[in-house]
Amino acid sequence: MSDYDLVIIGAGPAGLTAGLYAARARMKVLLLEKAVPGGQIIITDWIENYPGFPEGISGFDLAEKMKKHAEDLGLEIRTAEVHGLNLSADTKEIILKDETIITKSLIIASGASPKKLGIGEDKYMGKGISFCATCDAPFFRDKTVVAIGGGDTAVQEAIFLTKFAKKVYLVHRRDELRATKILQERAFANEKIEFVWDTVATGVDGFFGIEGVKVKNVKTNEESVIKADGCFIWVGILPNTEFVKGAVATDDGGFIIADAHMQTNIPGVYAAGDVRDTPLRQVSTAVGDGAIAAVSAEHYIENL
Ligand code: NAP
Repeated sequence: MSDYDLVIIGAGPAGLTAGLYAARARMKVLLLEKAVPGGQIIITDWIENYPGFPEGISGFDLAEKMKKHAEDLGLEIRTAEVHGLNLSADTKEIILKDETIITKSLIIASGASPKKLGIGEDKYMGKGISFCATCDAPFFRDKTVVAIGGGDTAVQEAIFLTKFAKKVYLVHRRDELRATKILQERAFANEKIEFVWDTVATGVDGFFGIEGVKVKNVKTNEESVIKADGCFIWVGILPNTEFVKGAVATDDGGFIIADAHMQTNIPGVYAAGDVRDTPLRQVSTAVGDGAIAAVSAEHYIENL
């Protein structure tokens, strides 16, 4: 006997959309979130490419709207961390700290987290190293900071940092950015951003906080220190799949493999959003994944 028709793990845009669709389909659905609903967008200052918001919208506000929309339709959201999964075509068990939930179908929408570089993140977290400009940029008003990375996150957030910092060094390991062109154009036009090409960070200097970032030019091998008060690291993401532990198939990077129906290698188990092996990670694609996964789960349990 199952407790639920559907359990969703993760309350980012993918999970909240899946919850909205499942609630509208009158499924008995539970969404589990270990922290604050919203996922990575709650630490994103401004979202400009989600359709319907031509002026843009703050990530926090968009998350709040998505959560309210799903809850208004009856979605039950519970704060709980998932520790493990027991999955087969017949049984799906979600293992929490003091409880096991049984469900007919499951959507894993647990998202991704920032990758670390191993340059002192653990020691200096909250003392000068950060992954979140929205949270920490105001601490660097009129100061100098280093931002590391060349993707959408690094470039978008480096631009945001210039609202506070007097100077932002953008350190990238190549001489070309990966970020989308409109972000590149804005960054190149921003006088507060200085690009440090072909360069990797190797460590940080400082006793109580950051005083500088040690860097190395990968073409010349020349080492130097950029004097700075803070260091923001945006070098990609890792999937939040600690609790999955081999229960479903993943790619080499640990992202969950799913087909066009968001179905994993286990019948009735779906993956949606950034945790999935996908060519594009946007709020809009996460929302699409969530909708498909919920409808797939609905069809799956109808045919049980
Ligand atoms: P990403 O696209 O994977 O970019 C990571 C960047 O970090 C790349 O430029 C990469 O360099 C660099 N990097 C990776 N490992 C490194 C290392 N060990 N040392 C130094 N540099 C390293 O990650 P992201 O920017 O966090 O974005 C994640 C996903 O979210 C992407 O799909 C992105 O499009 C999406 N996103 C979209 C938006 C938006 O639409 N506005 C905003 C944020 C994120 P290389 O280029 O040399 O590989």
